[in-house]
Amino acid sequence: MTVAVVPGSFDPITCGHVEIVKRAAKLFDRVVVAVYARPKKNIMFSLDERLDMVRESLKDENRVQVERFDGLVATFARDVGADVLVRGLRAVSDFESEFQQSTMNRQMAPGLEVICMFASMNFGFLSSSLIKDIAENGGDVAGMVPAPVARRLRELHQGIAMSVPSKR
Ligand code: ADP
Repeated sequence: MTVAVVPGSFDPITCGHVEIVKRAAKLFDRVVVAVYARPKKNIMFSLDERLDMVRESLKDENRVQVERFDGLVATFARDVGADVLVRGLRAVSDFESEFQQSTMNRQMAPGLEVICMFASMNFGFLSSSLIKDIAENGGDVAGMVPAPVARRLRELHQGIAMSVPSKR
């Protein structure tokens, strides 16, 4: 049985992430989506919110399980018995950091293979930060994020808009 780990911050999960996970689920027997508990970047959603959104978005994928993780991805991969680490590659700009991380991860977990999948034409422009920018500015993110994420972003920004006192 081949097990793959797809790690990320998923703040929030986008259709680009979902597509990579679904493609991985066609290739591997089990896919563990690993949600970083404490990403080293500014995040909008708590770990529980990110986990809920990832779980809701992937609930129909029966080969996929969703877990939180702390610390090194190489350690997590070893603990869940993973053979492969899957990452998504969008633009050339993703390459350098993915290359650096994959070299490091393979050094720390010998035997762990790293596979980068190219983003699809439809979602190659998508990033979680872009989604947050669009949603914060009242834009429509339907079709770019799974429905549960779109709903949560709408609730969040409507809530914020309602709590800002009117200037009139
Ligand atoms: P990280 O904090 O590890 O970069 P992200 O949640 O931003 O986590 O992304 C997780 C993985 O998904 C990374 O490999 C990233 O390159 C990939 N990814 C992000 N957006 C897309 C997309 N639109 N299409 C394909 N892969 C993507």
